[in-house]
Amino acid sequence: NEQILLAERPKGMPTTDTFKYEETEVKAPKEGEVLLQTLYLSVDPYMRSRMNDAKSYVPPFQVNEPLNGGIVGRVEESTVDHLQKGDYVVGYLPWKRHITVKAKHLQKIDPNVAPISTALGVLGMPGLTAYFGLLDIGQPKEGETVVVSGAAGAVGMVVGQIAKIKGARVVGIAGSEEKIQYLKEELGFDEVINYKTTENIRADLKKACPDGVDVYFENVGGEISDAVASLFNKGARIPLCGQISMYNLEKVDVGPRIQTRLLMNSALMKGFIVNDYAEHFGEGMKQLGEWVSQGKIKYAENIVDGFENVPDAFLGLFKGENLGKQIVKVAE
Ligand code: NDP
Repeated sequence: NEQILLAERPKGMPTTDTFKYEETEVKAPKEGEVLLQTLYLSVDPYMRSRMNDAKSYVPPFQVNEPLNGGIVGRVEESTVDHLQKGDYVVGYLPWKRHITVKAKHLQKIDPNVAPISTALGVLGMPGLTAYFGLLDIGQPKEGETVVVSGAAGAVGMVVGQIAKIKGARVVGIAGSEEKIQYLKEELGFDEVINYKTTENIRADLKKACPDGVDVYFENVGGEISDAVASLFNKGARIPLCGQISMYNLEKVDVGPRIQTRLLMNSALMKGFIVNDYAEHFGEGMKQLGEWVSQGKIKYAENIVDGFENVPDAFLGLFKGENLGKQIVKVAE
């Protein structure tokens, strides 16, 4: 039974040396436990922060211990009544091919609602992040302009589509022509800017947002958010979801950044962690599920095959290799 450990704490950008594969035994489930086979494994940007030995909202990974995260598995053996062999479940679990875990840490997935991998994306943590961050903090109104960075990723893609459902003009920022085409043609974004090829992101944003910016859903930080901030309208709302451009910096990047623009526009920027909304997850999942089944929210997944490719799939997040949710398929 193979598992993946944190080999060393990365300095700057992680490499394949950050990870170590190791053989371990499969443990028979005790009372209250089940044995799972890992089918789909999620790699997420927040895992980079957990590789540092620093206090955060989740404890750091430990060196020489298995990494963990969202996993969809199939029950192989069960000691509890509510889970049977063959059932599909999702949970925060160690990166192993076979996992023995307390059943109370798992949630059952209905494979008839949507493909089971979506429990890691649009119908899982990233979907809920988009839903609550945008609707509770961003509060987009009809006719307003919503800008989202990291627009072609797991969270950003859902943010843009919910903003469209709410009647907003939606402008995305993403890093490749393929992503831009997908967001505009498949998902109906009004404009999308390629931050990697633009000669002047501020000028492009100004053109894309002739009425300024009312909501900025912040996924990346750095110069992109400085540029968006120059267009904030009075009373703009900024859900601060993530700052991926800063996760691998060895020195904290300081600049004028956006505080002045917040002040000048009486704008509200609020950080949040998806778990802040844990009490309301049921309501969020119900609405996201309805939108997905009605075709109002589409989703894309970038599925990489093979447990041996987990490190590369993770590193790909920082190179923009994924269109939609980055997932590793470990078994059929
Ligand atoms: P994504 O699926 O968006 O994957 C990451 C994407 O970020 C890449 O595809 C890449 O796309 C883009 N990116 C990578 N490096 C940079 C950079 N230096 N500058 C700009 N863009 C970059 O990941 P998620 O949707 O899972 O997460 C998006 C953000 O939301 C992250 O910041 C994450 O930490 C945060 N998050 C926060 C949560 C919370 O509870 N607050 C929960 C979940 C996620 P491109 O080609 O466009 O560069």
